[in-house]
Order: sequence, then structure tokens, then C-alpha cells
Amino acid sequence: MKGKVLVIGFGPGSFQHITDRARAAIRESNMIIGYKTYVDLIEGLLTENQEIVSTGMTEEVSRAQEAVKQAERGNKVAVISSGDAGVYGMAGLIYEVLIEKGWKKESGVEVEIVPGISAINSCASLLGAPVMHDACTISLSDHLTPWQLIESRIDAAAKTDFVIAFYNPKSGRRTKQIEEAQRILLKYRSPETPVGLVKSAYRDREQVVVTNLKEMLNHEIGMLTTVIVGNSSTVLHDGLMITPRGYQRKYTLNQAEQPLKLHQRLTKEAEPWSLEAASAVETPLRRPTPAEGEPSLRDLAEQALQMVSGDNDQTVTLAGVYQPAEAIFELAVSPGVANKKFTAPQLITLAEVVGENGVMEYTQDHQMKLGIPTENPDEIIEKLTQAGLLLAPVGDVLTIKACDFCDGDKKDSIPYAEELQRKLGGIQLPKELKLGINGCGMACYGAVKEDIGIVYRQGAFDLFLGGKTVGRTGHPGQIVAEGIEPDQIVGVIENIIRDYQEYGYPNERFFKFFKRVKQVQGFTHVDITPKLQITAAPCGD
Ligand code: SAH
Repeated sequence: MKGKVLVIGFGPGSFQHITDRARAAIRESNMIIGYKTYVDLIEGLLTENQEIVSTGMTEEVSRAQEAVKQAERGNKVAVISSGDAGVYGMAGLIYEVLIEKGWKKESGVEVEIVPGISAINSCASLLGAPVMHDACTISLSDHLTPWQLIESRIDAAAKTDFVIAFYNPKSGRRTKQIEEAQRILLKYRSPETPVGLVKSAYRDREQVVVTNLKEMLNHEIGMLTTVIVGNSSTVLHDGLMITPRGYQRKYTLNQAEQPLKLHQRLTKEAEPWSLEAASAVETPLRRPTPAEGEPSLRDLAEQALQMVSGDNDQTVTLAGVYQPAEAIFELAVSPGVANKKFTAPQLITLAEVVGENGVMEYTQDHQMKLGIPTENPDEIIEKLTQAGLLLAPVGDVLTIKACDFCDGDKKDSIPYAEELQRKLGGIQLPKELKLGINGCGMACYGAVKEDIGIVYRQGAFDLFLGGKTVGRTGHPGQIVAEGIEPDQIVGVIENIIRDYQEYGYPNERFFKFFKRVKQVQGFTHVDITPKLQITAAPCGD
């Protein structure tokens, strides 16, 4: 009878994570060969009439030779590996031994490789979702691989922002490799980069530590640890490591996080760096491709920097540190809270910063919304601020929509509008929120139609909550108080908005929130929607 070698990955170590095929493959073999610890791990799956050959860890080659020899004698031999047998496991070795002996697929012993869950996957699942994006595995064991090659792989992976899973990070005698890996990574990645250390995933003595690149060596790392290093976008949330599916494509003032909702992310205009976008139009944004042998603009810039800085710190930053590709910086500008008049020099500044490739859109909120592809938002912020413009973030933030107080004639309430802008303007909220402030009872700038409205009248403020600003079921806010003293108004508004910030569901508009919670800061919601059933009619119907 023709023998068979079954090279079986049994996963991280727990019975639950062994595949059905791996179990069956173990069952159908009459001989089991493996490293002693692994044989012990699957002991519960073995039967009495199976011959067990357990060996020491370093005897991989003799294990492979023995397996092949036994299969040639007609045995069904299970060679067991932890994780996946094809990832730093026995699969390749078995083939090497067979090939050495002139094995052919057709005529030789049968070979089956049974896949298993590799450490990168099992450890990732315990850490959160750190892999998600392009990732690689690097074994730090230099027994079979020259250290110089390992070093250059770490360098390449670090430079190109791969998530990295380090296997075999450290052993009793091999302690320097992980220190070297850390040193190389720190050339390119922030010391705060999240790092997960998982020891004995899904085994008895499982240990999960979430740390960062700077601190990682202060924790225990050993033979049974896998070290997962996040990329430049990986974040920590509640002790979990999470790598977003893509890179941040847009950002706004004071915000390093991904402000785009998932459904907004995969649009072409949000991906100025994609191959398709870059080749579709020949815009000045696209840097000219240098002819062969000619230095690129970036090379020239780096050379110039090197000359002026005289050291290579700067060079490392430019040449090495992974720079997220040029993203779109979005923000809104206006001449002021109570001022609607742009000056000519301000418009010139706007034209300059927006340039050929940005967009400028005048919004219903009397703001100019800007979208500028740039790697240097600070410079833009500086120019716009110097031109006397008021800068605000965009997205799910608080926007203050004040009237022009009759060109400043009705100026008494302007200081409150300005204080609210200073204190709360641009804060992140569950959903965009417009706060309307009008300077007299005419309320001609429509404060009562906003999510929250305040109207200054006879030396005090009337307060409107929960306007539904759009849609066929749109309605003004409900008047909840009249005559709030000016020295109280900022505090009242602040408390309402903080409540919404804390208790609103993601994406829940303020009017829905008010309706749901029924009471905000002592103001009670009254249902003022018409009793008539109104057909929902979204745009286009
Ligand atoms: N074939 C295995 C890898 C063998 S190399 C696989 O696919 O997972 C041995 C290294 O794998 C260890 O040094 C450790 O880095 C990692 N490893 C294997 N099992 C692990 C487990 N249960 N928990 C954490 N790391 C593990």
C-alpha cells in the first residue's frame, strides 16, 4: 500500500480551534510525528493503536526524514505543527526531504498539507483587529536565515507601513534580535505605535499585553510570544488594537482621526492617491515622473534638506518615516461669528491657499468650505488666520450660525455669540449640530429653525430646542424658555450640548435625541409633529 504524509497544522493550541479536517487527518494516520510539546497538546485526539514519535524541538530535519521514510514503508504518517504547517512549520521541510529523494507527485508517496490557524491570526483575534491591512510575518530566528537579511526585511516592512507579526521573537539565548527590531522600527514609526504581545494564545497560560513600540521591551517576551506591531493608522480603543481598513483620506482642524463614515470612505474623490485617480488626469498635483537617472523632486528636496540641516535627522524623517499620502484637508472659514463680509485681501488669500487643485464651496451656514490636498495643513492654518478669518472644523461638529446683528447695530448679544464660539465652536458631536443665534425678535437669520436656537429679545434670550432643519417633516425648534438672563445663557447652552455629546447615539440628530430622552437640562420635549401621516419623500422621488 502506498504511504502518505499528512502535514497537519493544528492551530494555536485549543481543541476548539482545530479544523475538522485536521482532526480527521490525525485520526486516519497510524503514526504521529511531532515535537513533544505539540504531541502533548493534541494528546486527547490520539488513539491507542497509533504509534507516536515525539522528538525534541531542534530535530526538525530528522523528524521530516523519519516521516518520509515511514510513509515510503506504507504508513500513514501525521506530521504535526502548531498553527499552520506551512508557516515556519514542517510542510516545506517535508517537501525538501522528498525532493532530495527524487520524489514525484504522481509516483511518489501521497502528501497532504492540512491548513491551520497561524499565530498571526489567533494572536490578532485576541488583540482586537490589528492586522486588517497589508501585513507580513517576520521570524526573528537567525538559525536558518542570516541576520542581515532579517534586518533588511524589518527595515523594508517598517518603511512601507506594513503591520508586522514577529514570530520567534526571543529565546533564552537569542535576546538581542527583538531589541534590534525595535530600534529599526523606531526609525520609521512613532514610539506610540500600538504593539500587542500575545503569549500562548488559546493555551493554558495565555497572556495578552497591549503596549507600544517604546515600552514593548519592558514586558515579558519569549519563545511562545508573537509580537504584533501596528501600522501608522493603528489605534487603541479600550485596550484593543484596531487597524482601520484604509488610510485617512480627509481630515479637519484639530483632528487626526478618520472623520469619514464608512459609507463615505470608498468614493473616488476621497482617494486622490489611487492609481486610477493619479493617471486619470494630468494635474499639476501629479508630480512629474523623473526620467531615468534623473533625481526625483523628492530626492532633490531631501538633498537640499541635508545640506541645510547638516545632520541626517531631517533626512531620516523625510526619507524614512512613513508619510501618509497627501490627504484632503477640509475646513470652513468665515469672516467672524457676527460678521458676514469677506474682504478682498481675504478672498485673495483664500484663492491662494485653495490653488488650482482645492475646492471652495459657499455653504448655507455663511461659511466657505475648503477642501485642499496638502501635506502641510499648518501652513494653510497660518495663512488663513493671519488674514483674520475664523477657522472651523467640518463634519460632526458644532457650527454656530449667528446673524449679522444688523451690521452690528444690534450688538448687545454679540459677546455671547463670541463666547459660545470660543467655548464650544467646532467640538465633536454625535452628528453635526447647528446653533443659531439671532440678535432680535425678528430672528430673520432663522435661529428658530436650527437644531438649537437662541433669540435675543428685550435684554434676554429665548431658547428653542430640536428644530428639524430639513425634509418635508421639517419643523422649527420647540420654544422651551423665554427670557433667560444673558449671564446664564452660555452655561445653559453648554450643558445642553455636553449632554448631547455624552448621551447622543452616533449619528443621532439633536431633534431625535431630544425626542428620545424627553428631557434635557430640565427642558421637556413636546411632540409637535403634525398628526397627518406624511409620505416620506427622499430626494429624487
Ligand atoms: N507554524 C506556527 C509558527 C511556528 S514558529 C504558526 O503558524 O503559528 C513558532 C512561533 O510561532 C513562536 O515563537 C511564536 O512566535 C508563534 N506562536 C505559535 N503558536 C503560538 C501561540 N499559541 N501563541 C502565541 N504565539 C505563537
